[in-house]
Amino acid sequence: MAAVPQFAFDNSYAQELDGFYVPWQGEAFPAPQVVKLNTALAAELGLDAAALGSEAGAAVLSGALAPEGASPLAMAYAGHQFGGFSPQLGDGRAILVGEMLDQAGQRRDLHLKGSGRTPFSRGGDGKAVLGPVLREYLMGEAMQALGIPTTRALAVTLTGERVRRDGWEPGAVLARIASSHLRVGTFQFFAARGESAQVRKLADYAIARHDPDLVGKPEAYHAFLRRVMDRQARLIAQWMQVGFVHGVMNTDNMTLSGETIDYGPCAFIDSYSETAVFSSIDRQGRYAFGNQPGIARWNLARLAETMLPLLASDEDEAIRLATEDITAFGAQYEAYWLTGMRRKLGLAAQAEAEADLDLVAGLYAVMEGQGVDHTRLFRAMARRLEGDKSALRSEFTDPEAIAEWEASWLARITAQGGDNSGRAAAMDAVNPIYIPRNHLVEEALSAATKGDLAPFEALLSVLADPFTQRDGLERCAQPAPEDFGPYETFCGT
Ligand code: AMP
Ligand code: MG
Repeated sequence: MAAVPQFAFDNSYAQELDGFYVPWQGEAFPAPQVVKLNTALAAELGLDAAALGSEAGAAVLSGALAPEGASPLAMAYAGHQFGGFSPQLGDGRAILVGEMLDQAGQRRDLHLKGSGRTPFSRGGDGKAVLGPVLREYLMGEAMQALGIPTTRALAVTLTGERVRRDGWEPGAVLARIASSHLRVGTFQFFAARGESAQVRKLADYAIARHDPDLVGKPEAYHAFLRRVMDRQARLIAQWMQVGFVHGVMNTDNMTLSGETIDYGPCAFIDSYSETAVFSSIDRQGRYAFGNQPGIARWNLARLAETMLPLLASDEDEAIRLATEDITAFGAQYEAYWLTGMRRKLGLAAQAEAEADLDLVAGLYAVMEGQGVDHTRLFRAMARRLEGDKSALRSEFTDPEAIAEWEASWLARITAQGGDNSGRAAAMDAVNPIYIPRNHLVEEALSAATKGDLAPFEALLSVLADPFTQRDGLERCAQPAPEDFGPYETFCGT
């Protein structure tokens, strides 16, 4: 048997936050086997890929074997799920194995999802299955390549057992790396119990971990809250610009680090629509594409509530500060969004933000109902600047619908001067040509579930470089064929 993989663990959560977790070990599965390893990420973490892929590695990555220095535990958290508060959620099928410093000195969590039941499992079986685990792997890597902050998969380990879902499916464990697993719901867990000393302790920990420059500063808690809001404003703006729908933006699925987490029922939109929803259980469209900035703000208001006693000793003053921040979130989000949209449209920043906001809003207004593919459209804009007069129009069911907007955009481009070919290249560097299109994801996952990982590997390598057009990948840049039909995704799989 190859050597057990070594990790230079340094477990601050376990050491400093007693009472915020239950020490817990993963389950011993019948025949754990690593089927996918993220070797680039392993290298970033200074881990030995060969050891991780070995039999001993599989025992570690499925949770049965705690490597030296690990302090495995199940984290406690609460959360608003679809608007309703659950005072106790927690890691019901996951454990935090430990933390390590990566090659750049950044602290990263090693977390396992699907490692068996824990004291937080409620009615659940504590398991995960191959399809959704590979989906999380793929989506995380796609987001990473798109430059969007995200948790990432280190490995996928088959457990050797079959798990009951719709039918019987291969059980699997996802090894996930995150800059932390602190969530809005972690704060809510203690705030809801009136344990304000614990909320303070958690805030101190989170500040030291994510915003160490604030340690010891006056009003550090308030500054920290604003930092979290800022990271989320930036993150959600990035989601919106690539057409990403998270699908389950419950407060337990919103990180303090600003990384995207929990790729359950997520999907990318193809044809643009503000009301796009993919999750089978999101019947009201609470987490629809266009609702995401508003939901982020709502979630951040829940976080602010938990921190009120930390913001000011006078309650009215604390409420005033929190309200001010929550109100400011809209403008903060809009600023990130506009910056990103200008890049997508080839517009240099200019003093009059209003005019550009109107221009972008005008584009979205003409897109609605025109069957426009969100990804292809932005890519086509660069082709238009290169001189292909039909590039933009041909993306619309009615090409005339975009004519007026196109003229005003071109006028704005001409007015700012400069060279269009350089501009087109800069636009291609921010407008992906390849995204995880739903039909391609389904095709890859369905083959993988039947034992053929080749389409998954192929898609992963396409998505690793989403901005560079390559020969032979034409199919990956096309919308789903008509017969693919409406797309539906599922939670808790
Ligand atoms: P999620 O929707 O995956 O973010 O999970 C929400 C909550 O349900 C978390 O507390 C999870 O740990 C828990 N959960 C999801 N699936 C399972 C499962 N199969 N067994 C136990 N707990 C689960
Ligand atoms: Mg979750």
